[in-house]
Amino acid sequence: MFLTRLIYVSTITEKFGDTSLEDILKIGRVNNTKKGITGMLYFKNKYFIQCLEGERSLINETYNKIRNDERHCNIVLLEYSQIEMREFKDWCMGYIPSSKLTDDLILQFSPTAEFTPYEMSGASANLLMLEFKKNFKSF
Ligand code: FAD
Repeated sequence: MFLTRLIYVSTITEKFGDTSLEDILKIGRVNNTKKGITGMLYFKNKYFIQCLEGERSLINETYNKIRNDERHCNIVLLEYSQIEMREFKDWCMGYIPSSKLTDDLILQFSPTAEFTPYEMSGASANLLMLEFKKNFKSF
């Protein structure tokens, strides 16, 4: 039983509709709670960035499901590592809406103020999410 953190980025496809974000959060929260998976999801423009932490085989299983989801594509793994402790222990699938504050934080960890998560390192992506957690109450 190894505690693992996984961070990936992706881009929405034409299958992503008006209710998709809500649907993803709903099913994700139910499934992640059952599997003891914690973490957060951020969405801006057409990009997702998600951090998942939990037992390694359950993280792998969930990531495989997510990879097969046709609502997004160009899925790139930014980080996959063994961790000593969870950072998002109270968030089964935290979601942070985009705002002026998230834009400021994005600039802190990115080459430009644009949200271009494919240009972030795993370490920057992780630090960005920790800042999100510090500054926001998830819903
Ligand atoms: P089923 O509902 O039987 O899904 C069967 C297949 O259909 C799967 O490939 C599924 O991806 C796809 N699918 C399901 N609903 C739709 C739909 N409305 N439109 C198009 N295709 C659909 N799930 C989690 O459990 N935890 C997460 O943290 C999580 N994060 C996600 C993040 C992103 C960015 C995306 C796009 C999806 C995420 N999901 C997450 C959802 C995940 O991809 C699966 O849809 C979900 O886990 C249910 O899969 P299933 O095979 O058990 O169920």
